Amino acid sequence: MNNPVVNVAEPSGASAEVLAAADELLIPTYSPLPIVPDRGVGSLIYDIDGRDYIDFGAGIAVTAVGHSNPVVLEALTDQAAKLWHLSNIFTNEPAMRLARQLTDATFADRVFFANSGGEANEAAFKLARHYFYDQGDTDRYELISLEGSFHGRTWFTVSVAANPKYKEGFGPAIGGISHVAPNDIDALRAAVSSKTAAVVMEPIQGEGGVRPLHVDYVQAARQICDDNGALLIFDEVQSGVGRTGTAFAYEQFDITPDVLTSAKGLGGGFPVAATLAREPYAQGLGKATHGSTYGGNPLACAVASAVFAEATKPETLANVNERHTQITDTLNALAADTGVFSEVRGMGLLIGAEMADAYRDRAKEIQLAALDQGVITLIASPNVVRIAPALTIDADVCAEGLRRLSIAVRAMAD
Ligand SMILES: *Cc1c(COP(=O)(O)O)cnc(C)c1O
Repeated sequence: MNNPVVNVAEPSGASAEVLAAADELLIPTYSPLPIVPDRGVGSLIYDIDGRDYIDFGAGIAVTAVGHSNPVVLEALTDQAAKLWHLSNIFTNEPAMRLARQLTDATFADRVFFANSGGEANEAAFKLARHYFYDQGDTDRYELISLEGSFHGRTWFTVSVAANPKYKEGFGPAIGGISHVAPNDIDALRAAVSSKTAAVVMEPIQGEGGVRPLHVDYVQAARQICDDNGALLIFDEVQSGVGRTGTAFAYEQFDITPDVLTSAKGLGGGFPVAATLAREPYAQGLGKATHGSTYGGNPLACAVASAVFAEATKPETLANVNERHTQITDTLNALAADTGVFSEVRGMGLLIGAEMADAYRDRAKEIQLAALDQGVITLIASPNVVRIAPALTIDADVCAEGLRRLSIAVRAMAD
């Protein structure tokens, strides 16, 4: 591997042309980083100018088993040669294989397939409301979510999440939704009532800054939902599919939710999502109440089935825990040495390093300087550097990524 130094202020070569086209042609909602990736193998990415990068971002916690994973590639190409799409007027074997894997691995009895995390959450929220409607409990439609949460960018999901920035300027938000501070048991107890359809949470908040919820809080939330007859929905779009060292993060809180959503890592980069539910709540979306044209298509499900099997293998989960230790040890040492980070936290391979006060909201600068050094990182809020590599990243590649990241962090401290 050559260790590239990219001048992030001035994109060059073929990358510069593609970035200029993006600037001209795309509706300007995104600000792409100043390189243009071309291909990936495992946890390495090469840009169109031939430079290499260690991938600590995995497409925002998506490419769970690495780029061009041979097992997944074979599942994709085999299915691609057979049948891509049917719509839900048919069912198909790959979708049933995936549904069986997901229900066998979890508390859930039934699955609804969709294409993205936002859609999986949309289905979960609709399921909760519609379940009580079917019971004749028509006043029970309130959804309670946590401050700092992120549930997607559809209108229902931004309405349920608590980030006011994502709602501003888009007209009236959907009603019947309230927000409470995370890890405040009394606040949750006071908010839940006989009108509450569901309490919604990410067991570890991802976009909100890589913040695991406290175990006693999650257990209390389960009890409060039970006491009030409300559903507990876990948004595991980011934390699921082996990311935290177990198939799903809820296992580490010693409770089970009633509904769980999965996306991101589920397809390893192919768009697919799932809403998992236990009975009787799964009946909340009865015949013809909800749907999706692409949801559960054989191509996506064949890929996800292979990804899920690879990502939840004991050796993959063991690697997640070993690499967690490797990364957090290095980041903690770097924090002690440079003072750039005030806290390193997270679960498995969803790790956040919070900027110290003297470097407040400068996570993006670290991201750009790290890219300069040849390592791709993520941010989670302006104040947290987020590391979420493939679950299969090996120790040597991980060490090289940390070496490159360390140069960028030390440069900020100098
Ligand atoms: C990314 C994310 C979503 C949204 O998923 P999309 O596939 O972008 O719609 C929802 N919830 C959580 C926790 C996420 O991290």
